[in-house]
Amino acid sequence: MSRTVAFIGLGHMGGPMAANLVRAGHRVLGHDLIPAAVDDAVKSGVEAMSRAADAVAVADTVVTMLPAGRHVLGLYDDILEAARHDTLFIDCSTIDVTDARTAHERATAAGMRALDAPVSGGVVGAEAATLTFMTGGGEAEFQDARPLLEAMGKKVVHCGGAGAGQAAKICNNMILGVSMIAVSEAFVLGESLGLSHQALYDVASTASGQCWALSVNCPVPGPVPESPANRDYRPGFAAALMAKDLGLAANAVRAEGVQAELGLRAAEMYTAYAERVGATEDFSGIVRIIRAHDGGDQ
Ligand code: NAD
Repeated sequence: MSRTVAFIGLGHMGGPMAANLVRAGHRVLGHDLIPAAVDDAVKSGVEAMSRAADAVAVADTVVTMLPAGRHVLGLYDDILEAARHDTLFIDCSTIDVTDARTAHERATAAGMRALDAPVSGGVVGAEAATLTFMTGGGEAEFQDARPLLEAMGKKVVHCGGAGAGQAAKICNNMILGVSMIAVSEAFVLGESLGLSHQALYDVASTASGQCWALSVNCPVPGPVPESPANRDYRPGFAAALMAKDLGLAANAVRAEGVQAELGLRAAEMYTAYAERVGATEDFSGIVRIIRAHDGGDQ
């Protein structure tokens, strides 16, 4: 069934996601603060709206893809009044779990329905409609959102109630960030011990050290020809985004009083890496920072 979707935030991710909704036969009313982002989306069949509230007023669904929680909550404050009763608000941005829960509360208090639905898969996944959506909210809201999410992704998981999608996203990325550091440290130690990259890869990738950071996104050039290490660490998944996601994980770790020393340390390491050189590099480039600390060359 064709829907009318107000799509707010037409950046690197939102632009191609909105285009995929158009491709699936939906009417998409797009808004962004940056005119060039709107112009690009219009080329894909999105209808340009100069005010978010005007798009929301005629939509049955509102999708947001914004940088951070403050943008989502600020926008909700501006547009909830304009929306029709029962409109479904799907926030696909990656934001704090507490902000996601606040967004749910504000939306439902205003007579709307809400779902948090952050994604993994990056810009490549957004363009190819192969994103994974991790959703939080009620079962009815999830089922209602499902066809739209399936038009933008290949996997859609209902993780639980409000904020559960954001929780799944930051927990997964905490595993990823920590495991990439572990793999990188092992390669640097192996180098120091005279072990070749290929030898360590051949053993660990078929033994208990096997993980995505090793066997798909291998941080040293050679063993996995497609990994970013073979193209001077062009992303892939930018270190700045990993630093952002681990910052959100660290907020949750502290708020919950959970012991997660490696997660907190990984957040510090990616933040320092992103601030120094790695903002636009793939996060696996952190191996070079670890190697430099070890006394080797960069
Ligand atoms: P982006 O900066 O390219 O796009 C965000 C867009 O939101 C910008 O065009 C900006 O102008 C717009 N915006 C901000 N406030 C607005 C407002 N009040 N009204 C209208 N538009 C507004 O960022 P992105 O890379 O598309 O990422 C979006 C979200 O997706 C982030 O939360 C990010 O963490 C998450 N994410 C990104 C990736 C990735 O690989 N880029 C992967 C997974 C998740």
